[in-house]
Amino acid sequence: MKKVVLTFIIYFIFFSCATITTTRYDPVIMPDFMELQFGLSTKIQVEKQYKIYNDDVVQNYINSLGQKIAIHSERPNLNYEFYVVDSKEINAFAVPGGFIYVTTGIIKELDNEAQLAAVIGHEIGHIAKKHSVKFLQRAIIANYGIEFLTNLMGIKSKNRKSEITKIISTIGINFLFLKNSRENEYEADEQGAYLISKLGYDPGAMIGVQEHLMKLRKSKPNALEEFLSTHPISENRIEHIKEYIKITNIKGDNLNSDNFIKIKGRIK
Ligand SMILES: [Zn+2]
Repeated sequence: MKKVVLTFIIYFIFFSCATITTTRYDPVIMPDFMELQFGLSTKIQVEKQYKIYNDDVVQNYINSLGQKIAIHSERPNLNYEFYVVDSKEINAFAVPGGFIYVTTGIIKELDNEAQLAAVIGHEIGHIAKKHSVKFLQRAIIANYGIEFLTNLMGIKSKNRKSEITKIISTIGINFLFLKNSRENEYEADEQGAYLISKLGYDPGAMIGVQEHLMKLRKSKPNALEEFLSTHPISENRIEHIKEYIKITNIKGDNLNSDNFIKIKGRIK
């Protein structure tokens, strides 16, 4: 009986995802240990769908760049992991718990390390502000009820893990690719610009990425399909970043092109 109810509820989570939006005022009740369990289960699904790019030099580079940025985030104690995946899609995404993926497709489009840092910083921003945690939480509460969520927190870790594995393997990784609210995107952009400036990178690189992607909308619309569905590129968003940089007076002038160009050259 329990199994039937679970499957039924999962069906509703899956089909109601598109209508769920979260805001910065959503209280987070899901504890970090549970976020991590959701994240680890999702990570397994992601790596079934996306192949990790087979080059240790590239992986070490992205991980060390990501770690340097993450130290300055609002959640510096998460065990972040950063990966390049072999995909022509121009995309980057964040899995709850601190797992961040950047495609070879997007790296090939970028001009310098500051821009790559901007992409990573934006994804760290989504994790720091718990955007997909809020989404998962809302979806679970809307469909299972809040009691289910609190019960899930209270059960033995092993049992919880198997329940979470069931949920994630049924809904798949689609929730990572749902359109974030504009507010969440603004928030992730702010975080990204702030984080990269802490390392001396030009925070304007955030704008450079957006402008470049806007141009690609015409020349490579297929490769951008997934990215556009999750990260709406708009003049408003660029204006918002410009305004944020101006108000906060964050600065930086490092672009670090040389190192980045070497890494980019390794990507086929
Ligand atoms: Zn985003």
